[in-house]
Amino acid sequence: MTIFSKIIAGEIPSYKVAEDDLFYAFLDINPVAKGHTLVVPKQEVDYIFDQSDAMLSAHTVFAKRVASAIKKAIPCNRVGVAVMGLEVPHAHIHLIPLNSEGDMDFRKEHLKLSPEEMQEIAASIAANFE
Ligand code: 5GP
Repeated sequence: MTIFSKIIAGEIPSYKVAEDDLFYAFLDINPVAKGHTLVVPKQEVDYIFDQSDAMLSAHTVFAKRVASAIKKAIPCNRVGVAVMGLEVPHAHIHLIPLNSEGDMDFRKEHLKLSPEEMQEIAASIAANFE
């Protein structure tokens, strides 16, 4: 079971942003920007492109809805999209509010946000999710 499956099952806490039958979105615990969100399929699959065409499409469309909520909740120029999967073997789309190119640099020092701040960010994105 991956760490993300444990999060989806509620065995590990997360700052949930959105959920439906197939997907779960939550704040990245080590964000590169305020509102950095991960969108994962509930079904465990390692590599994003190993998903069926239908699942990949649905994953992307769900991420689009989450990105729209992020854009409303967090002032930014764009919501950046990244897929790496080098750390956790459970397909996930990173959604990151961007104002400049450097905002998406995963090598820079990540933000340290308090649990209260994380909770507030998650709640404001969730409130804008349609
Ligand atoms: P990647 O697999 O795309 O290289 O990176 C995995 C991402 O998942 C990282 O940005 C990391 O901060 C995040 N991550 C790893 N473990 C946890 C966790 O337990 N909870 C949350 N919310 N995020 C995690």
